Amino acid sequence: MNADLSGVYLRSSVAKKYSINYYSPMPIYDVTVPLRNELPTWPGDPAVKITDLSSLANGDSANVTALNFSAHTATHVDAPAHFIEGAAKVESLDLNVLIGEAEVIAVPEDYRAIDNEFVLTHCPPGATRLLFKTRNSAFWSEPRLEFRRDFTYLDLEAAKTLVQRGAKLVGIDYLSIEKFHSEKHETHLALLSHGVVIVEGLNLSDVPAGKYELICLPLRLQSNKGDGAPARVVLRTR
Ligand SMILES: [Zn+2]
Repeated sequence: MNADLSGVYLRSSVAKKYSINYYSPMPIYDVTVPLRNELPTWPGDPAVKITDLSSLANGDSANVTALNFSAHTATHVDAPAHFIEGAAKVESLDLNVLIGEAEVIAVPEDYRAIDNEFVLTHCPPGATRLLFKTRNSAFWSEPRLEFRRDFTYLDLEAAKTLVQRGAKLVGIDYLSIEKFHSEKHETHLALLSHGVVIVEGLNLSDVPAGKYELICLPLRLQSNKGDGAPARVVLRTR
């Protein structure tokens, strides 16, 4: 091992050993679904393809990976431009909305629709960022990963109430916030038309209900695109 590499090795092993005690006193929940080829994708979207462009094992001079997947794969953000032509794209989303206090709301296992009554009785009025933890989170750990059409969703009236109560970001733990095969995309429109950021594809399995600091950073896409983008999302305890 040459001198440079052993330096890197030493620094990283020291960081690993002490990171829990010194650098991360508060637990951080990573609620991002890891990107991998086996993931289910929305019907009609291509499968995730993460492949080698070059690899040291094959005699190339470096490991370089190619990524190929829809902007709405795994954990991702929907921007207003997803359903509204000419509306805000991911790049213009306000970081002050993507980062800040969030409530994780536990939804009972037997709920297929998060309805208005649930929102009125379980969501604190005035909450700016709400993440719904439903039975969907368990779908990410199923041994056979297939797209589930029966996921729990937010219904239209509930979405309208969240908007009225001042929500700026709403998250859910499967690939859409809206009922599968909803033709008019009413839940999306109710939120996006008011500039509410939608976060989809979270995995909240390990996160108890309660208050956290949300950090949600979608890729900064340009090229006149940005209807959505994969995001790294973490929750920090306060
Ligand atoms: Zn969506």
